[in-house]
Amino acid sequence: MPATARHSSSIPQPHRITIDDDWFEVQQITDYLYAISEPRHYEHTVLNLLIGHQHAVLIDTGCGIGNLRRVVELLTSHPVTVINTHTHLDHLGSNSQFSNIVMFDHPRSRDISRNGVPRETLFWELLNEKVVTPPWPRGFSRENAALPPFQVSRWLEHGDVLDIGGIRLKVLHTPGEAPDHICLLDQTHRILFCGDILLDGAVWSHLDGGDVSALRASYELLMRHYDEFDFLMPCHNAPCQSKDLLPIALAATEDVLSGKVTSEEGVDPWGRQYRKYDFGRISILTK
Ligand SMILES: [Zn+2]
Repeated sequence: MPATARHSSSIPQPHRITIDDDWFEVQQITDYLYAISEPRHYEHTVLNLLIGHQHAVLIDTGCGIGNLRRVVELLTSHPVTVINTHTHLDHLGSNSQFSNIVMFDHPRSRDISRNGVPRETLFWELLNEKVVTPPWPRGFSRENAALPPFQVSRWLEHGDVLDIGGIRLKVLHTPGEAPDHICLLDQTHRILFCGDILLDGAVWSHLDGGDVSALRASYELLMRHYDEFDFLMPCHNAPCQSKDLLPIALAATEDVLSGKVTSEEGVDPWGRQYRKYDFGRISILTK
C-alpha cells in the first residue's frame, strides 16, 4: 500500500496515462487505482477501477458510449466486479458489457436491471448533445444506442461490507442527489468513493428524488466515518478530492436549509429550474 494512502492527509497526484482509445481518458491515482473519465460528458463522468491481488472492482460504468470493457482489460487482467453508485444513466450505461454486477437494493435499481431504459428516456436524459458531445468513438452508433436489462449478482444493503478478493468496501446509503445513492468506504485503502454527493462542482438535489435535507443527513452519516478514510474519489470532474470537502459540504447544506444564504436561479440542460447556492469549492442545487 503506498504511503500516500495510509500516512498522509495529502491527496495522491493523478497522472494521465496514454491508452489507445478515442472516448475514454485514464489517470493513474495510485498503483492500485485508476480513474477512467469521459471528457465529452459535460460533467466529466469518472469511473474508478480498484485493482486487488486477484480481483478488480469497477465503480460505475459511465455513459454506455465506447468500449469500456476493452479499456478496463487494458488496465487489468483480473475478473471485474461492477458496483454502481446509483441509477442515473451516466453511471450505469455500460453495465451490459460486464457479467458481474452488484447494486444497492432499491426499487429504481430493481426496475432498471429488469427492464433496461426506454429508448426515449435514454435519448432525452443522456444521448442529448447538451450532455454528451461528438466525435463519437469508433464503432458507436448513436442511432442504435441502447441501455438493455442486465443481471445483478448481489443486492446490497446499507452497512454491508463486501470483500472482493481482499478489497473491503462498506456500503453507506447516502440519498440526497438520488434516492438510491451509495458511497463506498474502502477499508483496505482508506478511500471514500463518494459518487455524486462530494465533488468539485455542483451537487444536484433538485432532481426527481433529490432532497437537500436527505443530503445533509448523508453528510452527517459520512462524518461519523471521517477518521476511516484519507481522501475522496468522486464520480465527476476532478478525480481526487481532499477529505475536508465533507465538512464544507455539510456546513453548506446547513446554510441552505437555514434560509440565510442567497442563491441564483438557473436552468439545467433538460430545462429544469434550480436555485444554486455557491460555496466556492462546492455548490448545492435545490428545487
Ligand atoms: Zn452523475
